[in-house]
Amino acid sequence: MATQIQEAKSTDTGNDDDDAAFRERVRAVLAANCSRAGERPGTIGDDDPEGVATAKAFQASLVDAGLAGLTFPTEYGGAGLTTRHLELFNQEVHGWYLPNMPLSISHGMCLPMLNQFGTPEQKARFMPDNISGATIWCQMFSEPGAGSDVAGLSTRATRDGDEWIIEGQKVWTSGAHYCDYGILVARTDSSQPKHKGLTMFIVDMRQEGVEVRPLRQISGGSGFNEVFFTEARVPVDWQLGDLGQGWNLAISMLMFERVSIGAGGGSGLNADRSPGLIQAARALGHGDDPVLRQGLADLWIREQIKGYIGQRIRTAVAAGRVPGPEGSLAKLNGSLLSRRVRDVSLAIAGTAAQAWDADDAQGDRWAMGCLSTAGISIAGGTDEVQRNIIGERVLGLPKEPDPYKGAAWEEIPRS
Ligand SMILES: Cc1cc2nc3c(=O)[nH]c(=O)nc-3n(C[C@H](O)[C@H](O)[C@H](O)COP(=O)(O)OP(=O)(O)OC[C@H]3O[C@@H](n4cnc5c(N)ncnc54)[C@H](O)[C@@H]3O)c2cc1C
Repeated sequence: MATQIQEAKSTDTGNDDDDAAFRERVRAVLAANCSRAGERPGTIGDDDPEGVATAKAFQASLVDAGLAGLTFPTEYGGAGLTTRHLELFNQEVHGWYLPNMPLSISHGMCLPMLNQFGTPEQKARFMPDNISGATIWCQMFSEPGAGSDVAGLSTRATRDGDEWIIEGQKVWTSGAHYCDYGILVARTDSSQPKHKGLTMFIVDMRQEGVEVRPLRQISGGSGFNEVFFTEARVPVDWQLGDLGQGWNLAISMLMFERVSIGAGGGSGLNADRSPGLIQAARALGHGDDPVLRQGLADLWIREQIKGYIGQRIRTAVAAGRVPGPEGSLAKLNGSLLSRRVRDVSLAIAGTAAQAWDADDAQGDRWAMGCLSTAGISIAGGTDEVQRNIIGERVLGLPKEPDPYKGAAWEEIPRS
């Protein structure tokens, strides 16, 4: 999976034979279904129907091999393995490009949220199909008037008997156009301060009342969308977590996202790029260029650091902790690293990054890798927002001033 951040029961597979057999099982799936990292750099969000079908087929191969939802409980469709297996899996995928980008939010964020905060009924109903890839999930936080300040969001949920009625608009919703379900944060009490009147819900994206409009990106793709809710309905037992606790859950989900972007297991968007780039530099005759070699060595070192940060966080998650500000460190580090990858890639590619033969199906890979880099420093909270969090929560600097602290949301002026 793109990012297997999961809870687990133990940290030991038991013995070395078990490790070797497990590694072999992972290698067989990779060899049969994946390409080497660098052959096809992942692009954030650009998911066409073919890419979605490929991701589902890849996930099916993981299910067949007993490798889907590695450490999630078997009763909810997981493989029920240990964090040791997860670490081995992540080591094995190093250097491969896994064709599972369309599942990254579904598995990297929505699945851990269901596992951590879902009721037993919600877990039984939703987790197995999520893990197998039969259903794909998106995350709906951002709005036109609430991005960095997501707690200021305006989408309303109003109770109507056994249902909630949703009215409002989300934006930048990655994958909404192919998703079956979404996790939504909506305002359930506007008389409360902005962080307090929010609740999280599971939403059926295929219902009437949910309209998804794709947005065109600089890369030419349409990976994310506007989503309009007009009397969309949510059964009351699809509320995730407690009423009014949406902000706390949103923070947990954002931390899963930040870890997923910045310290994932080394696949999909998180794949280490240096092995593929070293290969490409050699193939294009730049293997002896001293400046390029320095840049590649620097990348390799930083990817090792990213790996250690990820390992540390995954271990903490396995011990039952929701990632804290270290998620912001991981996200910021991943974002800065992706820019270095872009710069080294362009130096290797030269003119190939700007022009390619029309019949070369992979010809756009350098340009796409470059164009999708900007989004990484925005998605999941911008670099500036991560720096604010690190400043306040790690370094203990004073909090940002908020003139409306404690005021009811409905009394805060907005345009
Ligand atoms: C590729 C991609 C995928 C995404 N996918 C999703 C998704 O699936 N679901 C979803 O809900 N959202 C998604 N988003 C939205 C993303 O979370 C927001 O774009 C992000 O939180 C920033 O919000 P904004 O765009 O409204 O920018 P704004 O909040 O308007 O920020 C504008 C600028 O002001 C700066 N800024 C804002 N506040 C502060 C501050 N307090 N201190 C310092 N600087 C500040 C920001 O850093 C930024 O440079 C995605 C975004 C991208 C790029």
